[in-house]
Order: sequence, then C-alpha cells, then structure tokens
Amino acid sequence: MAKYKGPVCRLCRREGEKLFLKGTRCMTEKCAIERRSYPPGQHGQGRHRASEYSAQLREKQKLRRIYGLQERQFRGVFGRAERRTGITGEHLLKLLECRLDNVVYRLGFASSRKEARQIVNHGHLLVNGRKTDIPSYTVKAGDIVEVRPRSREILSIQSALEAVEGRGIPAWLELDQAAFKGTVRGIPTKEEIVLPVNEQLIVELYSR
Ligand code: SF4
Repeated sequence: MAKYKGPVCRLCRREGEKLFLKGTRCMTEKCAIERRSYPPGQHGQGRHRASEYSAQLREKQKLRRIYGLQERQFRGVFGRAERRTGITGEHLLKLLECRLDNVVYRLGFASSRKEARQIVNHGHLLVNGRKTDIPSYTVKAGDIVEVRPRSREILSIQSALEAVEGRGIPAWLELDQAAFKGTVRGIPTKEEIVLPVNEQLIVELYSR
C-alpha cells in the first residue's frame, strides 16, 4: 500500500479520536478533532452501519496510524507477535512500543513519532554508545538511548525536550534531561501502554 501523503488530521477525524500525530498542535484548540469531530468527506456526517469487520478494521487502522506504519510493516510486526508464546495482542503492543522511534518520542527528544523517525533516520541517535539509524530497532531492558553530542544543538530536539514535562515520561523509561539521555528500565507491561485501542479486535481481524 502506498504511503499516505495527505493531511494527517484527516486520519484522526476518520478514526474519531485524537491520535496525536502532529506534536504540540494536538494539545491546542487548533486540533481538527476539537473543531470537526465527524469523519471527513462528503458522507462524513451521514449515518454508518457498523459491522464486526469494520470495527476490527478501524482498530487496526487506528493502531497502525498511531505508530505511523504502512500496512506491510504493521503486518510484519503482527507476524513477530504471533510467533511469540503468550497473548498475541499484548506482544503486538509491546513490540510497537519498543520501536526506537517510539522510544525517542516517549523520551521527549521529538514532539511526534514522525519527527522521531526523522531524528533516527538522520543519525542523531546513539544506542548503547553506537550510532543507530533504524527506526524499527527494538529496544531491550537496559538500553541507553541518547542524542549524539553534536546533535544536541538542534532546536527542534531542545524545544521538544522542554515540552516533555507536560506529556510525562512512562515509568518503563528514565530520562536524564540535562544529558539528553534515556534508559530503558524494562519492557513495558500491557497496563503501561495506554492507547485508545482494543488490540484483541486486531488479532481477530488477522485471524479471519
Ligand atoms: Fe490529530 Fe493532532 Fe491533528 Fe488533532 S492536531 S487531529 S490530534 S493530528
């Protein structure tokens, strides 16, 4: 499936929820969901009949859009989750949450996951002291993620870090703000991954 290049707020409106895809704008009254909370398009305000399949599909699309993955990448992560023993839906959430681009966002080095992916792609990150430019890298407990010394002057990283207090750092991560450094204290539990998604519906969708 081709990469979506349209307005991202449209994706939130389609799902009827804030997916926080635009950084600080999402916290303001300029957020499109605050102004027009109905789906986009000519029939956005019309009535829709919800089927079991459409509910499952919407949950999958929501989770995929939150983490900014294309269908093939998302399917790949689901496949990894499925091969693990235990509850597939929980593994799926944990694998997505442990992606390096998400960790960069959660630590506050970027104001959105999209921006975080760019920071990683452009080689501004070190993981355990080594340059890592793969956004899908899966972090492990004990990993140290830091901004490279020469990249600490970048204004977007500095302003994202200043704003992180309003968002909060999850308990499974630890931030040393002055050192531009974060530590993965442990793999997040299901309870620590707070998302407006029913992952079980996604498992049911892919089991059809
Ligand atoms: Fe979604 Fe953010 Fe746009 Fe609001 S501002 S609709 S939360 S991307």
